[in-house]
Amino acid sequence: MADHPYRGQRAALATLHGKARALAPPLQRRLGLIVEPVAIDTDSFGTFTGSTPRTGTAAATALAKARAGMAASGLPLGIASEGSFGPHPWLPFGAAGVETLGFVDAGRGLELTLSAVSRRTNFAHHDVQHGEDLEPFLARAGFPAHALVVKGTDGNAMTTGVADRATLSRFAEPGTRLETDMRAHLNPTRMAAIRALAARLATQLACLCPACTCPGWGQTDVERGLPCSSCGSATQGVQAIIDGCSACRHQQSRPRPDGVTAAEPANCDWCNP
Ligand SMILES: [Zn+2]
Ligand SMILES: [Zn+2]
Repeated sequence: MADHPYRGQRAALATLHGKARALAPPLQRRLGLIVEPVAIDTDSFGTFTGSTPRTGTAAATALAKARAGMAASGLPLGIASEGSFGPHPWLPFGAAGVETLGFVDAGRGLELTLSAVSRRTNFAHHDVQHGEDLEPFLARAGFPAHALVVKGTDGNAMTTGVADRATLSRFAEPGTRLETDMRAHLNPTRMAAIRALAARLATQLACLCPACTCPGWGQTDVERGLPCSSCGSATQGVQAIIDGCSACRHQQSRPRPDGVTAAEPANCDWCNP
């Protein structure tokens, strides 16, 4: 892809947390895009220890951070990532991580967000009891490759980025709470998830809009109404994939990639009410 519009262009990566290591290689390799870390104070967008809550969705926050990096650097392209962690939305007894990437191309009016839910997260916390063995929790949290935060009884962080046993035993008194430190550079599981998402972003940016040649052409929606194989009436099944351009709003539909062209009568409101 020698003629990609982003070859040799520079994009601001708004980050304090060393995410360039995960984000830059796929974008450089696939598009020739040069990712430049820009140190901005991302704490105003919500802090990882929860002392400043995030307002707005992860996608809106990622785009706002990307624009802040562009403003600080003067570059016309911006990237930022945002992580959310908590109980898994569908699976009981599990935590999930959601990574979101935002990409802004001010000149083309392009804004893209991608996100991925991952069960592979070490997100967890543990209240320290007197005389207890912490090893099972530490193993689950991936310590010391993954760092921890120690919070006092008042809920405020006493120390962050703890990645060695000497420091941990100094702070982990009974009554304190241990939490996984979810900042990307202290969390190899997150870095891997961000890297995978950056590869998806590179793949989507490599596709150019057939109408205006803006990068980022890809699926934006689906078309429902897959016909029933027995009676032919429209069902809620997906009939086609809709690709779109977020810059010029051009859209095209294409057949499902799995080749399915009809719905089972069991999924038809007419045949199986
Ligand atoms: Zn377009
Ligand atoms: Zn039917």
